[in-house]
Amino acid sequence: MRFYLTTAIDYCNGKPHLGTAYEKVTADVLARAHRARGRDVRFLMGNDEHAIKIEQAARDRGLEPIAWCDQMEALFRETWDALGCSYDVFIRTTEPRHHRAVQEFLRRIKDGGDLYLGSYEGWFCTGCEAFKKPEELTDERCPDHVSLVPKWLKEENWFFRLSKYRDPLLAHFKDNPTFVQPDFRRNELVAFLERGLEDVSISRRTTWGVPFPFDSEAKVYVWFDALINYATGAGFATDDKEFATWWPADLHIVGKDITRFHGIQWPAMLLAAGLPLPRRIFGHGYVNALGSRLSKSAGSKVDPKDLADHVTADALRYYLCREAAYGADLEWSDERLYARANSDLANSLGNLLSRATAMVHKWFGGTVSADISNSPLVEEARVAIARVEAAVDLCALQEVASIPMELVAKANLHVDQKAPWALAKDPARREELAYVLTEIIHLTFIAGSLLLPIMPTKMGELIRRLTGSAPLGHGDWVNLGTRFIAKDRVLEQGTPLFPRIEPPTSET
Ligand SMILES: [Zn+2]
Repeated sequence: MRFYLTTAIDYCNGKPHLGTAYEKVTADVLARAHRARGRDVRFLMGNDEHAIKIEQAARDRGLEPIAWCDQMEALFRETWDALGCSYDVFIRTTEPRHHRAVQEFLRRIKDGGDLYLGSYEGWFCTGCEAFKKPEELTDERCPDHVSLVPKWLKEENWFFRLSKYRDPLLAHFKDNPTFVQPDFRRNELVAFLERGLEDVSISRRTTWGVPFPFDSEAKVYVWFDALINYATGAGFATDDKEFATWWPADLHIVGKDITRFHGIQWPAMLLAAGLPLPRRIFGHGYVNALGSRLSKSAGSKVDPKDLADHVTADALRYYLCREAAYGADLEWSDERLYARANSDLANSLGNLLSRATAMVHKWFGGTVSADISNSPLVEEARVAIARVEAAVDLCALQEVASIPMELVAKANLHVDQKAPWALAKDPARREELAYVLTEIIHLTFIAGSLLLPIMPTKMGELIRRLTGSAPLGHGDWVNLGTRFIAKDRVLEQGTPLFPRIEPPTSET
């Protein structure tokens, strides 16, 4: 079974920040989880390069836009690699394959009768790269870009007949209740659709953008061009076989601010081009990190790479998944990050691994394997696996993080209740001791396997110490509940998996 997952592509006028990192990391956790379930995953990320503000950022530095975009691609990839993002395809909208896809897409929409030439005038916010209705301005400024003066622009433009798609989209929302998630975002979009849709301008008279196939003066409006990247990334207009394999997308992960574009404009474009709609669109919340003191970079923006260097990518990934319900905003707290890293990871999980392997070494020379198939804890582990898989289907990442930690807590409690050190004193209870230690190792292994998508490096190490081999990266959850540590396996002891981390003592 295949699974095609995408994130939004990012404007590369500035460095990646914590908000974009949140989206990439959480999408990566889902990509890895689907791989763990044995699915063939295509995970698409990339950069959105045709915005006027990117051209501006380049010119401000005396660079050609494409040279700037090349530099930014390297920077973005470096950041995503440092955070452990396992994208399969990194797309750039300046690539020839994308230009080709956009132009083919436009031809199809035009052939279907949904493109027409019209004129448009109005206030244009260069921050949003969008025309604003007078009622959307406050004191003649865009509320999101108060430092920019909107310009009055009049353009002869190509229009997309979006209005035609109100009813088909309402019907699609009705027939597919999980098309847009979470539910409250879906309801916002349905309410928006019910008010009616207006046609939208999709061309600009600029130099930076995808050229219109049938109008040499026009470039494709950046939003329209950007949305098509999801089709390009699946092979649209370049490889029909590939496209037939991967389209439609199973899941688009996007920020809450652009859920409407993805839930309304994009499906309408696909309908107009005669293409199937994505199966699900999930709108995540923001990371509100203004109060953070952790950033070494200028201003209040947190550099995700700095942060990963400091607390490890895995601890950061765990915090981002565990701290807030996915779909709601995450209120960043340095204290909570350190609390999660030290209490959940170092004290509970790391300590469980250390003491479990230490006990097996102390009393069994490093290898223990009782038949625990009738243990209630084995059954509980199976239930946890099923719950995590269900949470993955719902993009409920907080549960994907918390359910395995319940197993960790259970294993630690089991150690305390069974007191292996007391059992070890009585040679008559040696079998019981082996049974208890096998249960504990098993729970540690299952919890570690379930946390693998969130913490690929640390959990890879945990699994290696217990099983002798690294995780496969594909199919690691297949039949997981019936996998046990091999009988003759000498467990590896090592340094603490999660050394305690301390907040920086002084920060400017
Ligand atoms: Zn604006």
